[in-house]
Amino acid sequence: MGFGSGPKTTHTGKCSTCLMKMISKVGFGDDLCADDSVLPLDVKHAWNKSTGGTVAFINQDETAEEDLQNNSTKFPSQAGAKHREHTSEMQCVHHKKLTTGTCKEVQSQILQQLDIEPDRPIGYGAFGVVWSVTDPRDGKRVALKKMPNVFQNLVSCKRVFRELKMLCFFKHDNVLSALDILQPPHIDYFEEIYVVTELMQSDLHKIIVSPQPLSSDHVKVFLYQILRGLKYLHSAGILHRDIKPGNLLVNSNCVLKICDFGLARVEELDESRHMTQEVVTQYYRAPEILMGSRHYSNAIDIWSVGCIFAELLGRRILFQAQSPIQQLDLITDLLGTPSLEAMRTACEGAKAHILRGPHKQPSLPVLYTLSSQATHEAVHLLCRMLVFDPSKRISAKDALAHPYLDEGRLRYHTCMCKCCFSTSTGRVYTSDFEPITNPKFDDTFEKNLSSVRQVKEIIHQFILEQQKGNRVPLCINPQSAAFKSFISSTVAQPSEMPPSPLVWE
Ligand SMILES: [Zn+2]
Repeated sequence: MGFGSGPKTTHTGKCSTCLMKMISKVGFGDDLCADDSVLPLDVKHAWNKSTGGTVAFINQDETAEEDLQNNSTKFPSQAGAKHREHTSEMQCVHHKKLTTGTCKEVQSQILQQLDIEPDRPIGYGAFGVVWSVTDPRDGKRVALKKMPNVFQNLVSCKRVFRELKMLCFFKHDNVLSALDILQPPHIDYFEEIYVVTELMQSDLHKIIVSPQPLSSDHVKVFLYQILRGLKYLHSAGILHRDIKPGNLLVNSNCVLKICDFGLARVEELDESRHMTQEVVTQYYRAPEILMGSRHYSNAIDIWSVGCIFAELLGRRILFQAQSPIQQLDLITDLLGTPSLEAMRTACEGAKAHILRGPHKQPSLPVLYTLSSQATHEAVHLLCRMLVFDPSKRISAKDALAHPYLDEGRLRYHTCMCKCCFSTSTGRVYTSDFEPITNPKFDDTFEKNLSSVRQVKEIIHQFILEQQKGNRVPLCINPQSAAFKSFISSTVAQPSEMPPSPLVWE
């Protein structure tokens, strides 16, 4: 790859950091002064009877919460909040240049570059609500995910415990992980779980639908990070099962993290065992799931990435169908009628639907019309992802070896990653650009979960163990202004709930 001898291409004067400042919202970054309504933060300590420890309270921040819910790109001044006149600085990582000025000056600099995105509700996953809060221990803004109604039944208990275990297991810069879990109350009052994660300013859906230009450098560095995170997840034996732009968080430095593991599970190696088809948002759903396969592999995530790659290039959803059957029809319009071999895992009803229809020729060259950035290399890689037969679809590891991603890798490890570092004599690159995990994620704990009460006790114990010897435990501050609405917030909107499978027969 040429990293040993230093970068083989040079930057075109565009800094990924600066570029991202133009397309993402600002408001939570350390580079802007904080909102007066947020500061100062109270760190309240209370004696906790159950642990004998000290408990810090998290204060809800209504402005931030509103921002998150509205997908707001508002600056504090636009949100009607007063701003302090103090010195703030923006750093450009690539140019190593500091821009210093008063808060207002910095804001206006950014405002000049930034078009405001339209308001839309965000912050909901399939099974949880995400809020923006401030960690009173260090004043940093973090995301707080509330997992409500955990202990309604055994299925939801197991699902939440699995997600919790995964969030604590992940250690990868392109995969969101748990920074902390709020201290649970006594088990008799234990109904909800709150997980603290890094706060990301935007996500790929918001960026794609925004009017901001996306250069081919952006597309490459985003795709590189998606695949880098996915290679890690797949190496852990985990299928994400809901890869979509809204689940790819992006921060102000263009760093991307895969999030929302509410539908994730460990891969099933025994092909005779059935897997649920209630997975993956329809537009990104792989053809084998649409055709009712009872068993599928991590190739379903790669299909989703292919759809997202095309969406990044064309700035529109690739297969935007009204129903699962039309979804399949749109796919075959592009790829042509699949062979019987490619449909071998499909259910009979789905096969009959394909065979009943007209024989279609593939129309892949149409991918070149997605945008001027759809170069030969881009379309070549895209066509390796959008393969009907999952066993012939490219893996995340092999996709990362595609020449199209060389520039994305270079950019990422030159100025965005945490695995390489700069010295006075130049950049020192890591020995492993796309690390995997070893050992895999172990889900054998799920086999012994048999009752709600038992799982509740195990999760309670698990959370307490995570906190051992670490920092001061956190819990929700019932005195905070947003406490009521936060406590009453439940899951999501129907549109974000897991999709229903199509019944073919
Ligand atoms: Zn690196």
